[in-house]
Amino acid sequence: MSDQQLLDRIKGGLYGVAVGDALGGTTEFMHPREIKAQYGYLTEIIGGGVWQLEPGEVTDDTMMTLCVAEGILENPAVPMESIGRRFMEWYHTKPKDIGNTIRHVFEIYEDNWFEAAFLSDMDRGLSGGNGSLMRCLPVALAYTDLPDIERVSRMQSKMTHYDERCSEACVIYNRIAHRLLRGEELRDAIVSEVAGTEYEAFIKAKPDYEPSGYVVDTFGWVLHILLNSSDFSEVVQQAANLGGDSDTIGAIAGGLAGIYWGYNEIPSTYANAILIKDRLDEVSLRLYRLRIGE
Ligand SMILES: [Mg+2]
Repeated sequence: MSDQQLLDRIKGGLYGVAVGDALGGTTEFMHPREIKAQYGYLTEIIGGGVWQLEPGEVTDDTMMTLCVAEGILENPAVPMESIGRRFMEWYHTKPKDIGNTIRHVFEIYEDNWFEAAFLSDMDRGLSGGNGSLMRCLPVALAYTDLPDIERVSRMQSKMTHYDERCSEACVIYNRIAHRLLRGEELRDAIVSEVAGTEYEAFIKAKPDYEPSGYVVDTFGWVLHILLNSSDFSEVVQQAANLGGDSDTIGAIAGGLAGIYWGYNEIPSTYANAILIKDRLDEVSLRLYRLRIGE
């Protein structure tokens, strides 16, 4: 793979998250019936929805992905503290869209992330949300060795989500991303990584549950959409028209789709609509440089 192709895939991954988030933000929490009545089949980034988004405005999915990316870039060897500092800086901007698990952990955090996540789980239960999966892609973009990818995927998950199912999903997701960055076919990469896991069923069958914020439900839908789309647009549009946790499902699926098809295959009407384009461009280039050891 040429250097240009590698940069195209890294940039595609970050833009894929942002486009899936911005498109799906319009339909978050809606039922497919309501989406159909209001938009027909949603294909354009128009904003609005429950968060009253500007067209091209992204939500927590993309903003926390950038926190993870920039935290790793600051200190690739031991990134927890730099990621955590960015989480708190973002939290203090009073974001519109923030998951319940993450909000609670941020409220009780003092100086130890793992402890805060553990105490939150003890207190509330329910830490099996998709909030650590939606932000973890930069780990696969930054590191080239699988042990590093697995360790940091798991670590960033445990900072807010004590539940083991979350860390497992992050590891599987980033192992798929790692394969795609090496030029593997999308279907082959997914099939190889879900073999023997609870996600294996989605290679054949459509999920028979709601597209909820529970990490297993979310990831099941992500895999189903990725295995049943023929280009980048189809992936993010399918997610947006599902409703439920559509922005997060779009962001997670869009990240892998963006790596696989590359930035140049993301329609320019989508990429150019994103309001934080400059920051995505800069972080993409820095991740690329880190990856190639510059
Ligand atoms: Mg969101």
